[in-house]
Amino acid sequence: MSDLVRIPVGEGTPEGTNSAYLLPTEGAVVDPGPPTGAAWRDLLNGIEAAEWQLDDLQRVFVTHWHADHAGLACRLADRADATVHLHRNDAPLVGEYASTRKRRVRRDRRTLERWGVPEPVRDDVADGDTKSPIPDTYPVCQHSDGDQVGGVEFVHTPGHTAGHVSLCTETDLLLGDLLLPTYTPNVGGSDTRLADPLGKYLNSLHRVESVTQMAHPGHGVAIDVATEITAVRRHHHERAAATFEAIADTEVPKTPWEVATELFGDLLGIHAKFGAGEAAAHLQRLAAVNVVELVDGSPVRFRAAVDTYPSEQSLTPTEAESLE
Ligand SMILES: [Zn+2]
Ligand SMILES: [Zn+2]
Repeated sequence: MSDLVRIPVGEGTPEGTNSAYLLPTEGAVVDPGPPTGAAWRDLLNGIEAAEWQLDDLQRVFVTHWHADHAGLACRLADRADATVHLHRNDAPLVGEYASTRKRRVRRDRRTLERWGVPEPVRDDVADGDTKSPIPDTYPVCQHSDGDQVGGVEFVHTPGHTAGHVSLCTETDLLLGDLLLPTYTPNVGGSDTRLADPLGKYLNSLHRVESVTQMAHPGHGVAIDVATEITAVRRHHHERAAATFEAIADTEVPKTPWEVATELFGDLLGIHAKFGAGEAAAHLQRLAAVNVVELVDGSPVRFRAAVDTYPSEQSLTPTEAESLE
């Protein structure tokens, strides 16, 4: 029997209110929440309401580096004299927050430029990317796929971020932002380090498809994994077809930004990054399966490589296709 406790924390993001999870049996908290006073109070109240003591907390697990999940990790670990645990790909973005953040903001800017995002929009994205009140540096335990720590197994599920993990106990699966109840997790704009993020994401879905544990997303309440995976796959197939249509209507190759504005209309701030990133992710995946082709240059452009979109086209990479 699972004794997991869900604690809704913070004011809500575009993805919905964050869900922190207390795992009493494992002496752990997963994704304690965004770095705000309100979220901190929600978290402590939730732990107290579960009649649980912070002294019994040994580990803080974080599914990925985004501030709405990782923001309170160091503060909670300090208070409880616990340790913080992430996948090694995302650990530096929390453990060396100040220096990696600077690099990330520069990389995001360069990436947006490569996607053809106009300069004023790039400036707007950078201005909106404010520093979180979390420590500049903090000791973080780094893990790899398959690691078992205190009854919690790391399942590497990249795509939304490079080091995104789903965390598995005997009774529960903590999904982070791999699958969400009311929203399709962003793939492409939410971590600009990844090559072919959509291919990685679709492979990650495959990894959790057959789990039998109760599945708990990083926002909202428990979901049925199989139902959500079907819905997300359908969403990506429809979007891939729409992406193809957007570039197939002209001989002139298009940038990811041009495709994004055709698909989504006007995009500002974080939505410009997410929208352009999603278009770029679909174009990269369609290029990997030879439906579109990349035209080299800066910004990058794509054109159709076939006359009509193959309706049976699978976007999921085959095992032979290396994604590393
Ligand atoms: Zn996220
Ligand atoms: Zn999130």
